[in-house]
Amino acid sequence: MMQGAHISQEDLILFAMQALSEGESAAVHAHLKHCDTCPTELAQINGDLALVAMSVEQHAVPKGARERFMNRIEAAPNEEQELIGTPVVAIDTIRTSSGPSVWIPWMAVAAMLLVSILMGWHIRTLNEELRRQSDVLATEAAANSHAQEVLQLLTAPAAKRVTLITSKAKPVPTARAVYLAESGGLILQANDLEQLAAGTTYELWVIPANGQAPIPAGLFKPDAAGSASVVLPPLPKGVPAKAFGVTVEKAEGSAAPTAPILLSGAVSASGE
Ligand SMILES: [Zn+2]
Repeated sequence: MMQGAHISQEDLILFAMQALSEGESAAVHAHLKHCDTCPTELAQINGDLALVAMSVEQHAVPKGARERFMNRIEAAPNEEQELIGTPVVAIDTIRTSSGPSVWIPWMAVAAMLLVSILMGWHIRTLNEELRRQSDVLATEAAANSHAQEVLQLLTAPAAKRVTLITSKAKPVPTARAVYLAESGGLILQANDLEQLAAGTTYELWVIPANGQAPIPAGLFKPDAAGSASVVLPPLPKGVPAKAFGVTVEKAEGSAAPTAPILLSGAVSASGE
């Protein structure tokens, strides 16, 4: 492999690509230690290779690949020489007389590798973007299905509604309201309501924080166990509430609450 005083350019490239055998590699190492010009040449080759190697993932070379690669490298100069009709000369002579011609195909290969790497990188970026988008979709789908589940549970006729109180107390009518002023969303869950006289209904009211008239928020009647719920009645958006109230009204409901207020709850400062 090494003819004359210096290491051929081809061998330096193979050395830089770690494609030499152990023995060959050791010989190059030994030569580089006491040579002035070959290390400079190797540094230039490494610089070119670094450009290509920068973002390439390292993989183990398949068995036999190194031999095939070596054979191809060995065969290539002969074909070239046959084509241009020059006699076979020592590698050392090629190096000094036609160095650049060795570099042209090498740089073309390097350029193609670089293009492949950049395309691979672009595809990877697109794949990452795609994965990120489907993550967002999956999160939204999960949130929607959770909301559906909550709604189904709250509105299921078969759901048992239980109010936990101190053991000695006699059950009293209670209700819990969840209200989001921003969207006008409201859910009321009432328990232990007294059964109503015919032709009457319970009516829920939102008492606005700005002092305006109470807003009717839905009619409801208790089931046999005294439970009832109001889920997402049509309400204006963006009305902060001061309190909620429940009254008994005539069956079709009223425009304004009729005293007495049977159940009421003030919204705390923290909004709970
Ligand atoms: Zn040398």
